[in-house]
Amino acid sequence: MGDKAVDGPSVYPNTDTEQLSGITPAESPIIVTGVESFTFHKILGEGSYGKVMLATHQACQKQLAVKMVKKRLLVKDSRDDVLIERQVLEMIRKSPFISRAFATFQSQDYVFYAMEYLSGGDLRGFMTTYAPIPIPAIRFIAAELICGLQFLHSRGIIHRDIKSDNILLDNNGHLKIADFGLAVMNIFGNAKTTGWAGTLKYMAPERSHTTQQWTGSLLVL
Ligand code: ATP
Repeated sequence: MGDKAVDGPSVYPNTDTEQLSGITPAESPIIVTGVESFTFHKILGEGSYGKVMLATHQACQKQLAVKMVKKRLLVKDSRDDVLIERQVLEMIRKSPFISRAFATFQSQDYVFYAMEYLSGGDLRGFMTTYAPIPIPAIRFIAAELICGLQFLHSRGIIHRDIKSDNILLDNNGHLKIADFGLAVMNIFGNAKTTGWAGTLKYMAPERSHTTQQWTGSLLVL
């Protein structure tokens, strides 16, 4: 995390760029034609399949977070998270408690998400910096988190990787749930998902004791 050196846009091929269907420019005021629509500044964070960079959208001069996911790594692990994440992001654009995506597009090697930039960092960093957190602040954080989760569940979406790293804060201190790479959709009524997914140290003990040390996000079907 933090201000790592930019290995930025020039290393990401901008040939063969095309807009993914789904979150289209027509639905968004932010028109994206490819990586050339952005000036990249620094790495905001890194995950298992790529990184998130701070970028300025050149046409509207707005700062955005651009998540770039390496297709090669997804294929290697036989994961279709990227498609699920895009579908989920399309469905959840109306909640103030969910990180919003403006556009998705792809190059030969990467899938990109242009998302709102959440400059307050993640909840883990917040807790580390400000601990002990006063009870009223904890109530406020919990209330916003519940609102976000209720919104997701009302639309049949289960996140499955809720943890402080995936809860981001905007510049006013409001919370936004992020990273839908392990989410499942269409879970209504008595429907259940099978298998288990998440990050080991955040799982209930009866779920996590069977697997050895593992710190990343995990999906086992
Ligand atoms: P994982 O390995 O947990 O699946 P990932 O590859 O899906 O990670 P994200 O969790 O979406 O990546 O993002 C990685 C980090 O990038 C986050 O922990 C956060 O620090 C930063 N980040 C993500 N989205 C934003 C955003 N919209 N604004 C600012 N920073 C962000």
